[in-house]
Amino acid sequence: MKKSNSKTNLKKRWKLGVSEWNTENFHIDKDGDFVVSENNHRYNLHDLIKKYGSPLEVVFPTIIRKRVRSLIELFNAYITIAGYKGKFSYHYPMKVNQNKEFVLPIVGAGANLEVGSYNELWLIKRLWESEKVNPKLRVLCNGPKAEQYIGLIAEMRKKGLDVIPIVEDEGELEQLSSYKWDIGIRVDLDVKADTRWDKKNDRFGLLESRILDLPKTKNFKILHYHIGSQINSGKSILTTAARAFKIYAELSRKHPHLDTIDMGGGLGIPYEKKKFYTAKPVIRQIIKLFKKLAEKEKVKEPNIIVEWGRYVAAPAQVTLYKVIAEKPIPHASAKAWYVIDGSFMNDLLDTWAIHQKWHVVPVNNAGATLTPVWLAGSSCDSDDKYTAGNYVLAPKIKANDHQFLAFLDSGAYQDALASHHCLLSSPAKILAEDGQITIARKRETPDMVGKLFGWNNN
Ligand SMILES: *Cc1c(COP(=O)(O)O)cnc(C)c1O
Repeated sequence: MKKSNSKTNLKKRWKLGVSEWNTENFHIDKDGDFVVSENNHRYNLHDLIKKYGSPLEVVFPTIIRKRVRSLIELFNAYITIAGYKGKFSYHYPMKVNQNKEFVLPIVGAGANLEVGSYNELWLIKRLWESEKVNPKLRVLCNGPKAEQYIGLIAEMRKKGLDVIPIVEDEGELEQLSSYKWDIGIRVDLDVKADTRWDKKNDRFGLLESRILDLPKTKNFKILHYHIGSQINSGKSILTTAARAFKIYAELSRKHPHLDTIDMGGGLGIPYEKKKFYTAKPVIRQIIKLFKKLAEKEKVKEPNIIVEWGRYVAAPAQVTLYKVIAEKPIPHASAKAWYVIDGSFMNDLLDTWAIHQKWHVVPVNNAGATLTPVWLAGSSCDSDDKYTAGNYVLAPKIKANDHQFLAFLDSGAYQDALASHHCLLSSPAKILAEDGQITIARKRETPDMVGKLFGWNNN
């Protein structure tokens, strides 16, 4: 084992330090501890867990900012290189992670926003009124629009916020018919994309035939589509974009104000640290494609919006657990259950909901002998487990030693879906930034959890 304990080999073993996998800031130190670098600062996750306890979520705002900036820079760079005439803007879809600790650095790094509900817009209203954000922030509004939501959109527009409702169905078309500011319309593209979310019968957006039939609409500015999340190939992103462009070209001949394609979300994350496409070539090809198609269709090169949320948010958070029990498994692909002090069903709900795969790395003992295990959550539910489809390799636990495990890329979607099965407490959440640690969310006490279920003091 000695030889494989060198830092380089351990980095390789745990697939760290690889930018295509978003692990470029992650390393193993000489003691076998998981260390995160942020410019010249270093955070030892083993030390953090000893100090702040487990389960623990660690958020890295610097990683969030870097991802937003590099996205915007890449689009702008390829726009310049190609001499493309449309403008790019990035809109962060708030539903991916609504924690203030995510949204503020994202906006600060130059993102606009996309919201999907009245409550999300309400929070943005409060943020905007606090005058702590650029007054020019643009907000796109998706999601079903009950009266209250439409009312808030109109209210904010009158107050001067650049808020644009995206029409998703016939009813909304009707409701917004007297709305005089810019609107977007979502199209349900007739194309199959490589993602588990692209359903045969989508309930979002107008059918292609219907949108092409709309009468001339003076304030129709944005053609929007969103084909699904975690698209598994770059090619699929481009085929979908090409289909959308055709519709855009046809529509732009009828609707004089239309000048923007909003491509929605979907850029994927290499959760499994296997070969996966990266943002850069996809962005380059999008610009090339739109340039070529605009020329062919003889239309203006459209402004481009993307709402890639998972891509920005996922790698900026890791979730840490302690192994609190070990139980042998007699006949299986794994040798033992490792029971963790948190819950997959509660804290990483997609594990259960969509069989999400995670990259698991030891927080300590990264150089130890490994053993195949299945991981079990602390709820009393037999579905509260993670097997990675086969097994997870984790350090063999020595007597009287503690073992901690890190789940990478937990920054997207898990928080708002989190629950309290068996009334377990949610993980505490800390921020690591500029070499300092701040507590964002304290560990829930039984009293705090009880209150969520009406147990108020007596
Ligand atoms: C969920 C959603 C997104 C974000 O998708 P990602 O896969 O996280 O990039 C963007 N736009 C809309 C309309 C969405 O519903």
